[in-house]
Amino acid sequence: MSDEIFPFKIGKFECMAVSDGTMTYASPMFPPPAVLLFNNASGEELEMALGEHNLKPEQWSEWISPYICLVVNTGSHRVLVDTGAGSLAPSTGKLIPNLKAGGIAPEDIDTVILTHGHPDHIGGNTDSEGKPAFRSARYVMMRDEWDFWTSGQAEQKLDEHIRDVLMKYARENLPPIQGQLDLVDDGTEIVPGIRVVAAPGHTPGHMVLAISSGGEQLLCISDTVLHPVHLEQPEWFAAVDVTPEQVVATRRQLLDRAASDEALVLAFHFPFPGLGHVVPKGDVWQWRPL
Ligand SMILES: [Zn+2]
Repeated sequence: MSDEIFPFKIGKFECMAVSDGTMTYASPMFPPPAVLLFNNASGEELEMALGEHNLKPEQWSEWISPYICLVVNTGSHRVLVDTGAGSLAPSTGKLIPNLKAGGIAPEDIDTVILTHGHPDHIGGNTDSEGKPAFRSARYVMMRDEWDFWTSGQAEQKLDEHIRDVLMKYARENLPPIQGQLDLVDDGTEIVPGIRVVAAPGHTPGHMVLAISSGGEQLLCISDTVLHPVHLEQPEWFAAVDVTPEQVVATRRQLLDRAASDEALVLAFHFPFPGLGHVVPKGDVWQWRPL
């Protein structure tokens, strides 16, 4: 299996998971992975939960996260979900070459959906000249999310140590798409078969997509969870979750929906291609990769 493009079908929709590369989260740029991902977990619980994944909290020094974008060809639309991290790291910004390897040129994309405003999801919005990289596309974002990043709320709310890099990416990648932008709300059907599900917590206007065709469903859950352990420990939020008080309720709602609908799920940061099912386990869940 290629670790860069992975084609699959949802009903009649031709889908493809497309890698933008990977990012290594390690010191000194980032706190240790267990602190970054499970910010409010107690030592003993962490030891136990990670032990089941063959990880030891103190020895776990780097988290290598894939960045996974999604293409959906609905027959009438070619939709891209998230644009990757651009030049955030030498190991990111592979989206466009990987799209080309999958037979898709940037101008073929007519709709770009941005699940939220973090650098790894909007970093490929623009090209090296600062112009929209997807020239013929309508860019779509939730209204709450656009407002958060462009009206001064983010500067006030974000932690000091990550504020500068996040705001730099927002300034470089959001204003240039304004002429092609369409703001949406919870429940909006962006194109036939692709609907917005508001999923606040990770960021205030974080968006999940329910993608349906021919009785099959894909839930593109973006950063609702960042690591498979979050399914087993849904109360553990990440240091990068902007409104952690909303994270747990959002997660529980979406994981419950994914399990009861038996939907295929795409998680942006999970091992490539990020696809799998959510299986109930008591009052929590487990990840079953495809
Ligand atoms: Zn994020």
